Amino acid sequence: MTRKQKKTLIRVLISFTMLVVLHFLPLKGFWNALYLIPYLLVGYDVVLGALKKIGHGSFLDEEFLMMIATIGAFIIGDYPEATLVMLFYQVGELFQSIAVGKSRKSIAAMMDICPDTAIVLRDGAEDEVDPSEVSVGEVVLVKPGEKIPIDGVISEGRTSLNTAALTGESLPVEAGVGASVYSGTINLTSAIKVTTTTEYENSTVSRILELVESSTDKKAKSEKFITKFAHYYTPAVVILAVLIALGCLLFTDLGAAGSVYRGLIFLVVSCPCALVVSVPLSFFGGIGAASKRGILIKGSNYMETLSKIDTVVLDKTGTITEGSFAVDAIHPNEIDPDVLIDIAALAESRSHHPVAESIVNAHGRHIDASRLGDVEEIAGRGIRAVIDGEEYFVGNGKLMEDVSADFHECHLPGTVVHVSKGKEYLGHIVINDILKKDSAGAISDLRAAGVRDVVMLTGDNEKVASKVAEQVGIRKFFSGLLPAQKVEKVEELLAEERRVAFVGDGINDAPVLTRADVGIAMGALGSDAAIEAADIVLMDDRLGKIPDAIRISRKTMRIVKENILFSIFVKVAVMVLGALGLAGMRFAVFGDVGVLILAILNSLRAMRLPKRS
Ligand code: ADP
Ligand code: MG
Repeated sequence: MTRKQKKTLIRVLISFTMLVVLHFLPLKGFWNALYLIPYLLVGYDVVLGALKKIGHGSFLDEEFLMMIATIGAFIIGDYPEATLVMLFYQVGELFQSIAVGKSRKSIAAMMDICPDTAIVLRDGAEDEVDPSEVSVGEVVLVKPGEKIPIDGVISEGRTSLNTAALTGESLPVEAGVGASVYSGTINLTSAIKVTTTTEYENSTVSRILELVESSTDKKAKSEKFITKFAHYYTPAVVILAVLIALGCLLFTDLGAAGSVYRGLIFLVVSCPCALVVSVPLSFFGGIGAASKRGILIKGSNYMETLSKIDTVVLDKTGTITEGSFAVDAIHPNEIDPDVLIDIAALAESRSHHPVAESIVNAHGRHIDASRLGDVEEIAGRGIRAVIDGEEYFVGNGKLMEDVSADFHECHLPGTVVHVSKGKEYLGHIVINDILKKDSAGAISDLRAAGVRDVVMLTGDNEKVASKVAEQVGIRKFFSGLLPAQKVEKVEELLAEERRVAFVGDGINDAPVLTRADVGIAMGALGSDAAIEAADIVLMDDRLGKIPDAIRISRKTMRIVKENILFSIFVKVAVMVLGALGLAGMRFAVFGDVGVLILAILNSLRAMRLPKRS
């Protein structure tokens, strides 16, 4: 509990004790004013809050309702009632703030991993500083049991790391010199030195923090509905209450006080707190549950859409496959194979495309960047590069057609990277990718989670595409697509009234990520593009997280709907009883707080992870 919550609890307890004492005192006439003490003790902030807002225009909210209802009760001489109403209200508020705090904490469990300090090595001494004071390229020392403060590369030492906070993966990962490490990871076994590659503000943990904090700003339809609802609801209820009071006065023998009281009960009951509180709380819980698994959902609106997804479209390279190719064959056309791979590696040396990185790795030798002139990456095709003053093209068959090089296809299975010097064909390199371990399992799990159709899109050739599709059990696929054609395919699916999620690795597919109903990016560790373009980010590369995310969002939406229906049902029932005079003020408040507490408890369920079916 926070200090404020403790203070409220103490106020509630003292006020309640006073109320009990006053109840047994034979108070008469003026002495009833004593009830003002427990009333103000427990409710002064509500009354003050309501009064302050009257000056600001939109004051018709629940605090206002509580204020007029309780002051009204005082005026008609219902002193204990007035105080009790306020008491219950505060208990409800307290409960709600504890619940919100709890789900915030579950998201923050991940953020607890935020390091408080970093040990920097400066002039041979260990300097303990705030992580934000460390600049790029400095060396930080991370002792076993401590968190890595900033993204970087291990420059000394070997250890195992716990990445659970980022990926939800509980098995430790081995890492040695040269390995990239991310802030938020816990160093388990031995001390390492890390050379930082970014500032603290741009490190993984800071970015996640920002993302999660802003995620609650993007509201789901259900949430927007509640805000709108409250906007019209309060004035409507106030008018209804007045009408009820007037009606009672004119058509019944309740008398003035009795009629006003009827109207007031109606007001108290009508307070929509349970709705207003529990819906965002459920989303919050769901987003928290997902982030525990390394699934970052950027807003409750995406959670709502994800729950309705029926078609999942997957990119091939880097999504279904590892995206790290091994070179299977080098087929030069009348030149030295070493020269061919030299040119390819040089041309690819600035690209982050998986094909490029694999060729550079396979080449393995020093790359003399001074030979490299202008380089242009042509999405979905390859690279145009000027080397030693001459123009070269490195890429797929389409690129070769574009420059009318006289290329030929390869008989070997795999992704073929052709190389030409201007129009002159120099030969090709055949590379092969491997499937991610869990791809096939994840795709059948997607179907088990109720996804109707799984579709694969790729810019790679038909041969490779059909082999991969078959291996992972995908029946529908499209190959040889340029990034723009991938967007068209997704648009075709959208035109069939499907709810489409697109899953990609963030390289070359930002347009598709934005076009689909939900864009899911894989492997966000270290990749800015993915975090920017996607609505949902999977912190590790595993496709199996997608059915998990769908299950979490479905469960959350079910809870949201339960809460909406339940609170509206109880509300309407008590309102009718109140208007008919069958429910007194105590009953009304009790009903309200009761619904609120049940709805909150139900929301908290969203924080627990659903079981896999
Ligand atoms: P995918 O849809 O499989 O993720 P992309 O759309 O990124 O693939 O690329 C499609 C094809 O374009 C690749 O299979 C490759 O043949 C070619 N290509 C793209 N970028 C490069 C590059 N940097 N070097 C060589 N070939 C490339
Ligand atoms: Mg790709």
